[in-house]
Amino acid sequence: MCYRRCGSTHKVRFLLLLISTLTTTSICKASSGDPYPNSTSHGTPQNGSLSKGYLIVAATGFYVYGTSSKRYANGSLRALLEKVGSKWNEDYSAEHGKFGAGRASKKSGGEMPGASHENGLDLDLRYIRTDKAKKGVEITDSQYDREASKSLIKLFLNHSSVTHVFTSDGTLRNQLNDSRVQNWAGHDDHFHVRIKDPDGTGN
Ligand SMILES: [Zn+2]
Repeated sequence: MCYRRCGSTHKVRFLLLLISTLTTTSICKASSGDPYPNSTSHGTPQNGSLSKGYLIVAATGFYVYGTSSKRYANGSLRALLEKVGSKWNEDYSAEHGKFGAGRASKKSGGEMPGASHENGLDLDLRYIRTDKAKKGVEITDSQYDREASKSLIKLFLNHSSVTHVFTSDGTLRNQLNDSRVQNWAGHDDHFHVRIKDPDGTGN
């Protein structure tokens, strides 16, 4: 039981608790570099699944295309995409328009057409067009803008979390001259970015 004489002690304790709660909350908010936490990519991109996938939606610098049910990603991939989008917006979108982000994984990952995209670490992106239209372009089309596409891919390669970029454009691969940029047939109308599993493989 509490009597009047100890009421002030309780008030002080309450204030201290309040202050420590507020301090902890603001520190956590300030130090959190992880806007989309708690995703887990299980298995491998070729045979895996995804827990707490985040839907990729249009944001600064990019639009989305394709089926939303196949646009879920590990939170780290969504965060990376948004960082690249912001940078693209600062340096390139006035001249080249927004870029398009498409297929990632299903909400819980698992089987997808093709040989990957199963655990939220893969993302397909359109090459940049010369006319800023929000539609796809093939590397053999006259509207294909290799220079601008190269600039976009470089923004991804600036992040060490990117382990692979797949493209069918041999000239682009030669110019980028980065061992992470690799040939994969079927990447004539999009390139494909893969990140490393943020919390390691085997879970
Ligand atoms: Zn792909």
